[in-house]
Amino acid sequence: MNRRIAFYTLGCKVNQYETAKLAERFAELGFSVVPETERADVYVINSCTVTGIADRKSRNFARRAKKLNHGAVVAMIGCYAETSADELAHMPEIDVLLGSAGKDGLPALICERLGDSEENQETDGSVSVSYNGADTAAEGRTRSYLKIEDGCDRHCAYCVIPAARGPVRSRAYAAIMAEAAELIRRGCQEIILTGINAALYGDGGYDLIALTKEIANLPGEFRIRLSSLEPTVVNAGYARRLIGIDKLCPHLHLSLQSGSDDVLAAMGRRYSIEDYRKIIAVLRERDPLFGVTTDIIVGFPGETEADFERSVDAVRRIGFAHVHVFRYSKRPGTRAADMPGQIPEQVKKERSDRLMAAAAEAAREYREKCRGATRRALVLAAAKNGALRAVTDNGIEVEIPGGGSLINTMVDITL
Ligand code: SF4
Repeated sequence: MNRRIAFYTLGCKVNQYETAKLAERFAELGFSVVPETERADVYVINSCTVTGIADRKSRNFARRAKKLNHGAVVAMIGCYAETSADELAHMPEIDVLLGSAGKDGLPALICERLGDSEENQETDGSVSVSYNGADTAAEGRTRSYLKIEDGCDRHCAYCVIPAARGPVRSRAYAAIMAEAAELIRRGCQEIILTGINAALYGDGGYDLIALTKEIANLPGEFRIRLSSLEPTVVNAGYARRLIGIDKLCPHLHLSLQSGSDDVLAAMGRRYSIEDYRKIIAVLRERDPLFGVTTDIIVGFPGETEADFERSVDAVRRIGFAHVHVFRYSKRPGTRAADMPGQIPEQVKKERSDRLMAAAAEAAREYREKCRGATRRALVLAAAKNGALRAVTDNGIEVEIPGGGSLINTMVDITL
């Protein structure tokens, strides 16, 4: 019986990877994977709980799914389900609740719920979606996430991720190498290494740098991008070792969170703004147009106007290609939730607007600095207007003229 399944995924690249894996598994079990706006027999919400807004979006989608098909099975999985199971157990729209560690078991649970046994599904029976499974992305996908690590043990004061994702777990080195080789064999041109705190990766004597070097040594025309790194682990020396790796894109997401040392200390971030600047200096020494994006929280408890101005100043000086601005969101069970000096929502909004304006100006200046430079770009897909979408090595998304035959190829473009 051909069942229709839809995925609604929130949050980080690790969630995106896990959804892709689950979608592959259900497809092998004979399900048709359809967009989440369509009527389906099963809806899977791969949730996020980094902010209250993410929680709300997950709940809203559960209600929307039941409106699309009242008889559908709605599964809430992942971080929000992990940290708020009691609350979600009372939502009538949710039929299956599965935390972060249990995602692998979803296919069996859904088949049981549908009264179909997993074994009886029409399938080629080749692979399973086990965490260490070596199977990979659909053929010919131009770029693909490759999950290498899960969990975090840093416990920054505002962050619920350690509670949602648990302690640090690194995938087996051999499984990652097998998956990388398979991605390359299938024509993937860009492998994006991702993890909750990827720099904490460690297996069989391989840390993130050693692992990345080994992947880079694999034969084939491809490049590697690191999805994000935490300055709670990475310092200038680490960055110097990292940027020497061949095939590694000169582009990094490095979460700053605040430009004020007092706020960084209150957050438990283990670095100063000066430490952060030193990392950027090492990256720009290698490539003056090295692309850096970041996250900054405004309105952290106790943040003064002067502290906030230091975040604005950091954005103006560091030359970020993009800044994700977050208003501090109180997360149950985190240290910051009980801190004095909680900032009123109106002040958070006002600071968020000001920082976004500074960030837009910084992004415009960075693009201006890149004007006239020739960069290696991967052609991703056709754009709606008939042009082609591409992404440069330093992370700039562009549209270029050209035919479909260029898709999934590397081209030199002048910005
Ligand atoms: S390093 Fe801090 S902010 Fe990042 S996931 Fe870990 S606890 Fe959260």
